[in-house]
Amino acid sequence: MRRLLIAACTGLLLVASCSHDKAASGATSATAFQPQATGRGGAAATIDVRATAAAIEILKDGGNAVDAAVAAAGVLSVTDLYSCGIGGGGLMVIYLAGEQRVVTVEHREAAPRQLRRELFYEAGVPIPTLEVMTSGLSAGVPGMVRGWETALARYGTRGLKEVLQPGIRVAEQGFEVDPFFFDQTTRNAERFKLFTSSASLFLPAQGQPLPVGATFTNPGMAKTYRLVAQGGSQAFYRGELARAIVETVTRPPMSPGAAHPVRAGVMKLSDLADYEARIREPVKSTYRGYTLYGMGAPTSGGLTLGLALNILEATSPASPNRAEMLHRYLEASRLAFADRNAYVADPEYVDVPVAGLLSKEYAAERSKALDPAKAAPGAARAGNPFAYQQDPSTLPPLAQRLPALPPSVLDVPHRETTHITTADKAGNIVAYTCTIEAEGGSGIVVPGYGFLLNNEMTDFDVPPSPATPHANIPEAGKRPRSSMTPTLVFKDGVPVLALGSPGGSSIITTVLQTLVYHLDLHMPLLEAVAAPRVSQSNVPDGKSHAEPEFIASPEAAALQAKGHTFTEANPIGALTAIRFNPDGTLTAVAEPQRRGGGSAMVVEPVR
Ligand code: GLU
Repeated sequence: MRRLLIAACTGLLLVASCSHDKAASGATSATAFQPQATGRGGAAATIDVRATAAAIEILKDGGNAVDAAVAAAGVLSVTDLYSCGIGGGGLMVIYLAGEQRVVTVEHREAAPRQLRRELFYEAGVPIPTLEVMTSGLSAGVPGMVRGWETALARYGTRGLKEVLQPGIRVAEQGFEVDPFFFDQTTRNAERFKLFTSSASLFLPAQGQPLPVGATFTNPGMAKTYRLVAQGGSQAFYRGELARAIVETVTRPPMSPGAAHPVRAGVMKLSDLADYEARIREPVKSTYRGYTLYGMGAPTSGGLTLGLALNILEATSPASPNRAEMLHRYLEASRLAFADRNAYVADPEYVDVPVAGLLSKEYAAERSKALDPAKAAPGAARAGNPFAYQQDPSTLPPLAQRLPALPPSVLDVPHRETTHITTADKAGNIVAYTCTIEAEGGSGIVVPGYGFLLNNEMTDFDVPPSPATPHANIPEAGKRPRSSMTPTLVFKDGVPVLALGSPGGSSIITTVLQTLVYHLDLHMPLLEAVAAPRVSQSNVPDGKSHAEPEFIASPEAAALQAKGHTFTEANPIGALTAIRFNPDGTLTAVAEPQRRGGGSAMVVEPVR
């Protein structure tokens, strides 16, 4: 049934017939669910019809792509609050059409200054990951509000006061609980029960989630947005909100009798007051005549994507045979992830070999480890990108560098996060991924303010022994390595595609698989977005994560014949994108099925 619906959707340009439960949900939603829309004047695609509608409303009102992206994020922080929100952070890639340049606004959560790696060990061994996930210790200093304000002030045309209005409306009027929201709440109910604030917001029906069809309102969130709309980022990073955040992190609001151990964090008011978003250079790479701009460290997204594409390019021309391309895609990912796991972390703390990782010569060297006939038997070892830096003599000897370690146990696809893609009539484009890390973040709502704190500190690596070096260990003020991969693709200086996805480490492979399908195999974009996924992130057992429908496909059988093995994961990713067509029209595309399906819209539809 699910596949049938996707097949029906992918065959059409405008898919009004693909209506969906989510379409009707919410006091504020009016537009039919549509995973693809083509037209002019601007476009938006997100996982939520209300967020896409908010972006289009701003665009129609003369706002630009940055205003629209922040407005959509403001709504998603209410309707998709288990995935993203002002208690978390994000990574925004912006194409400024007037200046023909790409900038990025990094507003990843930062470790509090008193955070040290020792805090993640007890009796000499790492605290169990599941316990860190639900704790004050896992919460980083949120970056969202500073990121929004910075992006709007530098590259937008509206202020927080205006772009937060749609979010305030949805928080106040509420939205209808759909099956996906109900399932998310149910999956996290045991965690939410631990905290008085989370239980009263998410489990109001005698400790149970609101049923499907009920209206979920969040007056605390509306109050928080009003404070921020009025006072700007200062109202979040100083004053009553900052005090409430620090209190929540350092003394989590435990329910009476809660049995689960919950560690407190070490965040201070000064950590919040001093938080800054960073304007960073994008990562630039090329692939078979296309130029890609992505996000650099502390996310591994842009670098790993660039390296994997370079390895693919080095192996041979694109093959029309899908199984053949998938084999190379998985093996290129395996090699790229080996380097990602070893070398990529916050560049303010670690010497990330950016030039080496993106050098075509390095990729050619790495591609020698890719056997066209068979899958590697297990995890790949990291290479030596330092030897391909422009001036390797300035670097420490290889022996002093960091050992390659397997990814942490949390490095699996099934996680949260959300991706927003917008474009405006002037040609500005935004690819924006934001997150609170796990589904439901730390599980702790800031009492009275309606938002969840992130658990982004679990994106640091905590090696088995406290003495083992690793690029991505927790350190004071450091930003943990991310996998978020907001990406822009150009050809001859002209925009072709903007895209991104949620999905933990499989964010990178979701973007990569979609690019291979669309650019190399010439699949229509919606078909590439809907297609069953497979993801290789160099996990120790050598297997690839794959959706059940992929495992059942003929391509999977062909891959198994080459030695590939799979671990079932469902779903992988939930991509949104905008395609810039040669005739000047835009095609917005949203995930049609996963996570309940998303919403794509344009300002002026054409048929
Ligand atoms: N926290 C993860 C990251 O920044 C994203 C989590 C997810 O997508 O589920 O890479």
